[in-house]
Amino acid sequence: MPGWTAGGGCPYVVLWTLFFAIAKGSIPMSTVAAPPASKIPQFINGQWIESQASEWQDIVNPATAEVLGRVPISDAAEVARAIDAAQAAYPEWRRTPAEDRIQPLFKLKMLLEEHLDDIARVITRENGKTFGEAKGEMRRAIENVEVACGIPMMMQGHHLEDVARGIDETMIRQPLGVVAAIAPFNFPGMIPFWFLPYAIACGNTLIIKPSERVPLTMKIAFELLEKTGLPKGIVNLVNGGKVAVDTLLDHPAVRAISFVGSTPVARYIYARAGANGKRAQCQGGAKNYVIVLPDADMQMATQIVSDSAFGCAGQRCLAVSVAVTVGEAQKTFRDSISEAAANLRVGNGLDEGVQMGPVITRQSKERVQNLIGVGARDGAKVVIDGRNPKIAKYAAGNFVKPTVLDGVPASSELTNTEIFGPVLSLVHASGMDEAMEMVARSPFGNQASLFTSSGSAARRFRYETPAGNIGINIGVAAPMAYFPFSGWKDSFFGILHAQGRDAIEFYTEKKVVVERWAKEHSRKF
Ligand code: NAD
Repeated sequence: MPGWTAGGGCPYVVLWTLFFAIAKGSIPMSTVAAPPASKIPQFINGQWIESQASEWQDIVNPATAEVLGRVPISDAAEVARAIDAAQAAYPEWRRTPAEDRIQPLFKLKMLLEEHLDDIARVITRENGKTFGEAKGEMRRAIENVEVACGIPMMMQGHHLEDVARGIDETMIRQPLGVVAAIAPFNFPGMIPFWFLPYAIACGNTLIIKPSERVPLTMKIAFELLEKTGLPKGIVNLVNGGKVAVDTLLDHPAVRAISFVGSTPVARYIYARAGANGKRAQCQGGAKNYVIVLPDADMQMATQIVSDSAFGCAGQRCLAVSVAVTVGEAQKTFRDSISEAAANLRVGNGLDEGVQMGPVITRQSKERVQNLIGVGARDGAKVVIDGRNPKIAKYAAGNFVKPTVLDGVPASSELTNTEIFGPVLSLVHASGMDEAMEMVARSPFGNQASLFTSSGSAARRFRYETPAGNIGINIGVAAPMAYFPFSGWKDSFFGILHAQGRDAIEFYTEKKVVVERWAKEHSRKF
């Protein structure tokens, strides 16, 4: 594995050497210190480089508290090196025919398929979601690679002859140059792939800055990218936090910023990128509502809402956070969702049969538990209380079990707070009008869902609801790669979203050519 060379030798080799030394009796057991956690290298200009950062952070398995490695918090100079590499690689990549640019993506798809389980295991170890959920997110990553392989068709412009007599007009799309993507912790594998395949297939060169909490997934993805034959400098990987992001935002060579993360950071990045003349697409946080009408199939609604609210420990930007029950759905749904929540098996996502893993950090656990307390203080009933659970074998993990709060008052701080943990708030509405108003009042607009068997209720919901991703009898309305990931309101800052045609619009600039040629000239030949 090329990446290990930068960290001072493969840790497996180090461990085996130690093991044999102990077995032979040459090292007494008690004197063996734990091997130092391996340092995550950067991938710049086609090479794995040990970071010179003065600040490093532990990468911690949220289920076990095991330290998995150390991530550099890069300084501006190191990020600038990645930008320089991307800038140097751009002219030749831009001239490379689209057909040739997609060939490494076909290879990447095969490599990602082949190593799906390996990557998913890394995701589970550093993020905590279950192995099945991790495989699911990589499927969407692969789907984005597949869609971007259609760039030679999708990047085409258009042309009209005789816009005036003898004058033709053509719109062509050209790449932007150096672009950057900044990712959150909750989908370490999928979200960078909302951007990477489209950006490079369109002829741009790219810098990815993953979340410093989950850098191992991109490390393994870049080890695969390295095997695809992509020329050096086309894709670069730098780790870090705010300083790295600010460097990308301020550097004049970076033309576009794709960001996914919390709303305050999304807002900040959109403003700073705009002030620096860059285009930006910034997906932010969420507070997703589901309305359950009394005519819904309650069994289906329960199962799907449970998966949406508690899957990935509630750390999906499309997780249902508030269920609004209408009329007599109140009691049936409350009872059935509470039973579902109580029965979910929580533990280490790599263990067989586990349905929900931990939240990302100890601080997240404390924050989520405090917010449950805020709900109770404000008058909600804690029907199922997942605080401070005992999880066999994993006492050090950041576990919060599924929690159901009933009757969260509209005045509660929780109403507009993204909890980002396995907590479902139940509220009740007397009719669909009132329920729709509750959804419309939310400052966020990432997703809204409706459970019903009525076509006209579904049509009204789809027509009127101010959210970008709508689910009808769907709990996680995650758009396929060939549709835009359409957040609205405080869940998105920008115009063009991630994925599909929007991605191609975002990563290309339109140029219009108007042409006239004197007739007499052709008559000479
Ligand atoms: P975050 O905003 O803390 O971090 C996201 C990225 O921004 C990271 O790479 C981080 O290093 C960087 N960052 C953090 N603070 C920064 C600052 N002050 N200046 C510059 N850069 C900064 O988000 P997170 O906790 O990693 O992810 C969870 C959030 O992401 C949730 O709010 C979730 O809803 C949201 N999310 C949204 C979508 C969507 O499509 N709308 C998808 C996934 C996650």
